[in-house]
Amino acid sequence: MKTFFDLVQQVQKPGLCHRCGGCVTFCTAINFGALGQDEDGKPVFADMEKCIECGICYMICPEIDELDKEAAELVKWELPMGRMLETTVVRCADPLVRARATDGGAVTALLLHLFDTGRIDGAIVTRQTGLFVREPWLATTRREIAEAAGFFFDSSHGMSMYSEKYSTFAPSVQALGPLARRKSGKGRIAFVGTPCQIKTIRKMETLHIVPTDAIRYVFGLFCSGNFSFGAKERERLEKLGKFEWSWVRKINVKDHLMIHLDNGDIRAIPLEELDFMKRFACRFCDDYSAEYADVSFGGIGAEEGWTTVVSRSPLGRACLAHARDEGAIEVYASQDNPKFASEATQIIVEHSQKKRQKAADFRKTLEKTPPVSIKS
Ligand SMILES: Cc1cc2nc3c(=O)[nH]c(=O)nc-3n(C[C@H](O)[C@H](O)[C@H](O)COP(=O)(O)OP(=O)(O)OC[C@H]3O[C@@H](n4cnc5c(N)ncnc54)[C@H](O)[C@@H]3O)c2cc1C
Ligand code: SF4
Ligand code: SF4
Ligand code: SF4
Repeated sequence: MKTFFDLVQQVQKPGLCHRCGGCVTFCTAINFGALGQDEDGKPVFADMEKCIECGICYMICPEIDELDKEAAELVKWELPMGRMLETTVVRCADPLVRARATDGGAVTALLLHLFDTGRIDGAIVTRQTGLFVREPWLATTRREIAEAAGFFFDSSHGMSMYSEKYSTFAPSVQALGPLARRKSGKGRIAFVGTPCQIKTIRKMETLHIVPTDAIRYVFGLFCSGNFSFGAKERERLEKLGKFEWSWVRKINVKDHLMIHLDNGDIRAIPLEELDFMKRFACRFCDDYSAEYADVSFGGIGAEEGWTTVVSRSPLGRACLAHARDEGAIEVYASQDNPKFASEATQIIVEHSQKKRQKAADFRKTLEKTPPVSIKS
């Protein structure tokens, strides 16, 4: 049976670990202290003697292909980029949510709708804990779900810690930990995460690992990569985009890094210019549009202030239809541009193919070079 020892050799040493946190959160011997995390959030053996060699951590790692077939069957994955039942462009009907949201606030609108109609008791989202820091958390009230919208920089509460390292990634799988250990009574939840996190969740589902029984909806965010910026990178970004961080209201990733400033200006920096702050492991990732989710969300293909939404499972499609019928979301006025949804689909296909090709090319270089770095 392969164990965490093999994850270190096969995933961490070549620099392929995304820090999704799946292995450490769902380690069977976590309560006995087998695994822990170092100061950078990298999973490590805390006490190898406590490992019972069950192999769970190895099987659910998104970088290991052991359960790929089962996970693909579970979601009825198909070429070229997963199952796609419908593509729409929508936004939240509530302007207050939209004002805070990353794009059109569609994720938050659907979460609030599910909560209001009693379908979920909470949602795993992220919240701002510092000026450049977001952390995963289980939101269990309407207000908490609404406040989690966006990639917002609220500097109004004295949060001005410019020395902190900011990352667009939040290890949301780890927020399932208390549920797994049944420390939270919240029975039915929705999970929001990046494609790599969604894949971990689906792999856990194939093994019926607790608390996947509690996850009723899986919402995926399109993802071209995770960017982290410490002081040096922030300085370089300021020069590239000709702005100062103190002017920043929110940031977003689309086909460019979009820096929204307080005065309403948007600085768009091409993603190709941001390799200096892209996480190494993301170069090898081939899922752009969260192909294993019930519903996937992104900004590309939609006008500013709207979200492109792909329904992938009947459950996801029903959720979207219900939210639309109840007035929780507005659908883009197709009479203005009837081809908008099909054009959005085409744009997603192009971005997905590009990411898949780049990942395959990077993998080839990895095969040629011996693993040198365990830093990601
Ligand atoms: C790392 C990253 C890369 C992305 N790359 C792209 C891209 O290349 N192209 C593209 O079109 N879209 C990308 N997106 C998705 C896009 O930024 C929006 O999240 C998406 O369009 C939904 O917008 P919304 O207004 O409907 O969501 P909102 O209503 O604003 O809700 C967003 C939800 O996501 C949660 N969230 C925020 N950050 C994270 C995070 N890091 N991890 C997990 N959950 C989080 C929030 O708490 C909130 O619940 C990316 C998102 C992330 C987190
Ligand atoms: S106990 Fe199981 S899940 Fe935990 S480290 Fe060992 S093999 Fe991995
Ligand atoms: S990718 Fe996730 S599951 Fe795999 S080693 Fe890294 S943190 Fe663990
Ligand atoms: S590119 Fe996005 S989905 Fe892929 S590993 Fe990086 S953060 Fe995860």
